[in-house]
Amino acid sequence: MAGIYIHIPFCYKRCHYCDFYKSTNFSLKNEYLKSLFLEIESRKDFLKNESIQTVYFGGGTPSVLTVVEIDEILNKLRAVFDLSAVKEITLEMNPDDALPQYLGELRKIGINRLSVGIQSFNDQLLTLLNRRHDTRQAENVISMMREAGFDNFSIDLMYGLPSMDIDTWKASVNKAIGFNPPHISAYHLTFEKGTRFYEKLKQGLLKEASEDESLQQFQFLVQTLKANGYDHYEISNFAKPGKQSQHNSSYWAGLSYLGLGPSAHSFDGKMRQWNISDINTYITGLSEVKDIFESETLSLTDIYNELIMIQLRTAKGLDLELMQNKVGEKLFTQFMTSIKKHETNGNVVLQDGFYRVRKERLFVTDNIIADLFYCE
Ligand code: SF4
Repeated sequence: MAGIYIHIPFCYKRCHYCDFYKSTNFSLKNEYLKSLFLEIESRKDFLKNESIQTVYFGGGTPSVLTVVEIDEILNKLRAVFDLSAVKEITLEMNPDDALPQYLGELRKIGINRLSVGIQSFNDQLLTLLNRRHDTRQAENVISMMREAGFDNFSIDLMYGLPSMDIDTWKASVNKAIGFNPPHISAYHLTFEKGTRFYEKLKQGLLKEASEDESLQQFQFLVQTLKANGYDHYEISNFAKPGKQSQHNSSYWAGLSYLGLGPSAHSFDGKMRQWNISDINTYITGLSEVKDIFESETLSLTDIYNELIMIQLRTAKGLDLELMQNKVGEKLFTQFMTSIKKHETNGNVVLQDGFYRVRKERLFVTDNIIADLFYCE
């Protein structure tokens, strides 16, 4: 089983916390689309004969494209790959791009899941983040999606924001639940190098949330969503029954994926490739039939670290049998020795062949993962 990711590298403006690759220069959009079609053709053998189950338009902002442009990309994919087994086609969207006609037409061309970057239901925080939308647009988008026939969608929220107190966070979470979305992703802010927030932090103009504040916000999120029927299936992801993201779940299961567009990553089970994070080089490279990606074959240690990093963040946990098969006896023994300490101190539990981080220790998952990493 495999998935396809398409990176749409355009945004109307830059959010102050975001380090995803994107350009605000839309004059390159047509050239980018032509290059994307060339890349689709050139990568037709990457997934070999694996059954493609999911397609995901991420970014950047995929909803800056017209429905015709998105349909052309899908048709190009269908011409090159067998998409007959695809169950989920997701498109990331900004709330202010959502108009009833646009949503209705997306549904008609086969998009069956939307992921909306709401981030907060507080206008002051949305301004601080430099988002394009306001609370009113965030509220409207949910009813518009439902009216357009989308019964599968996700909303993104952010916590650990500077100057956000617990009451403001509670109000955002409660507002979100009031709309009963099938899926919620909630991410803690990280100050990534190269972002406006990072600069402001260094200049002392912004203050990071304290660990206590972050923990309090995380605990409120987890308890409230659980009480409202959400399955906490990955550290940042919550779903109503049957509404888990199939695309992301396949990443976490270690399945193959092909990434298309600048900065997109691909993985075939053994080798990782990452496209150049520069739209001009991407366009030139494809027109001159040059490689636009770098690649590395994963060592056993890389596979070991990756399994720990990805699977311990999921509720399902780390699959011991998979670990043993993938990394060999020496590293498997290393893992069993290292994990014992965390089992003894109550960080993790072994159940049905899977090691899981205990619910009450989820907030320190990253520390557990870092401790388990192996360096040669
Ligand atoms: S958060 Fe999304 S909309 Fe904002 S700059 Fe990043 S990719 Fe663009």
